[in-house]
Amino acid sequence: METAVGSENTPLTSLSEEDRLFQSSVRQFAREQIAPHVRTMDEQGVFRKDILRQMFELGLMGIEIPEEYGGQGGTFFQAVLAVEELAVVDPSAAVIIDVQNTLVNNAMLRWGSTEQKKRYLPRLATELLASYALSEAGSGSDAFALATKADEQGDHFVLNGRKLWITNAAEAGLFLLFANVKPEAGYKGITCFLVERGVEGFVVGKKEDKLGIRASSTCELVLDNCKIPRENVLGEVGKGYKIAIETLNEGRIAIGGQMTGLAHGALQHALSYARERKQFGKPISDFQGVQFELAEMATLVEASRLLVYNAARLKERGLPFLTEAAMAKYFASQTAETVASKAVEVFGGVGFTKDYPVEKLYRDAKIGRIYEGTSNMQRVTIAKQLLNKG
Ligand SMILES: Cc1cc2nc3c(=O)[nH]c(=O)nc-3n(C[C@H](O)[C@H](O)[C@H](O)COP(=O)(O)OP(=O)(O)OC[C@H]3O[C@@H](n4cnc5c(N)ncnc54)[C@H](O)[C@@H]3O)c2cc1C
Repeated sequence: METAVGSENTPLTSLSEEDRLFQSSVRQFAREQIAPHVRTMDEQGVFRKDILRQMFELGLMGIEIPEEYGGQGGTFFQAVLAVEELAVVDPSAAVIIDVQNTLVNNAMLRWGSTEQKKRYLPRLATELLASYALSEAGSGSDAFALATKADEQGDHFVLNGRKLWITNAAEAGLFLLFANVKPEAGYKGITCFLVERGVEGFVVGKKEDKLGIRASSTCELVLDNCKIPRENVLGEVGKGYKIAIETLNEGRIAIGGQMTGLAHGALQHALSYARERKQFGKPISDFQGVQFELAEMATLVEASRLLVYNAARLKERGLPFLTEAAMAKYFASQTAETVASKAVEVFGGVGFTKDYPVEKLYRDAKIGRIYEGTSNMQRVTIAKQLLNKG
């Protein structure tokens, strides 16, 4: 059985009229089109193609892409709102649009040549799903230790290596992929390549069988003498590290949004259930012990939302946001774990079963503390700034 999700309550954080309308259209789509399929997609570990197509049709895959390229001409803040709203219903749907908007489209808009923008942006806005491929077996937190090599050979590069944990990879047609053209130069050799699916020497490998966000694909990529033309270098050769750092700094704000949405969803389920479930002759929501848990959960959700919106607004205004983004992601992923866990408890025994949605949110929450920089790496960033070591 599914309980109601999504809150009509206005968050304390105020939104402009335009943002509120945008938010409510994403909320409606999530409730009407995604919610009925969440459980099956989780069980099967597959995201429905028709929902992905609808996400393109609604403009959710090209929120910040300018209208001249067929996008929505929206804002970064709206991308964060969309990720948050989808995560209330399905954190897998949320990460799909998160990677597309805040990592791939963002990088293409900032570093793409005019030619590359013309070639890819209209497709990214309407039908081309993309991945962001940085991590490898030996380089996760220490991302710049990546071992994938790109040998420069005249007008092209030959790529060899393996990428791991790549979101959207099972369905993606384009991969922003980081390789090192000059390993002896360390991170200053890292270069970002635009790799199209189907190119010789490039294979999407094993798909991971995961604890949570199971409908979002996560795969290995294998590059075996994969020839990539020079025109497919994004930005400058040797400047890929800058693209990686800057996109991830921004992207993690939206992961904070994903975790806030997840926690909000868990809270809504818990509220509905606490009103319905009777013990000792009354709804369990009449017991102060349960009320205090709900109050704690709501406070954590609101605090996370404020941190996330604040970081997004700082970024949008061109102000420093690095510490605030790290705090937002760190706190929101902690919130998601705590709130989803408490939601399972509010449900009692049935919360532990797949008949209700909270066990899935509890599983989904774990990823927030791992991807786009682990919780420890967020704390490293925050501490560096505090101690002026950044
Ligand atoms: C579902 C999923 C989707 C993903 N999607 C993508 C994607 O689309 N693209 C992509 O490039 N990557 C992706 N990743 C990879 C993800 O970003 C990495 O897993 C993450 O950065 C952590 O790296 P790691 O797994 O190698 O862990 P490690 O770096 O080995 O970390 C292991 C533990 O050690 C701790 N640790 C490491 N270094 C330090 C330190 N200096 N100080 C304190 N603690 C430290 C970490 O906090 C962690 O607890 C995804 C991963 C998953 C699981």
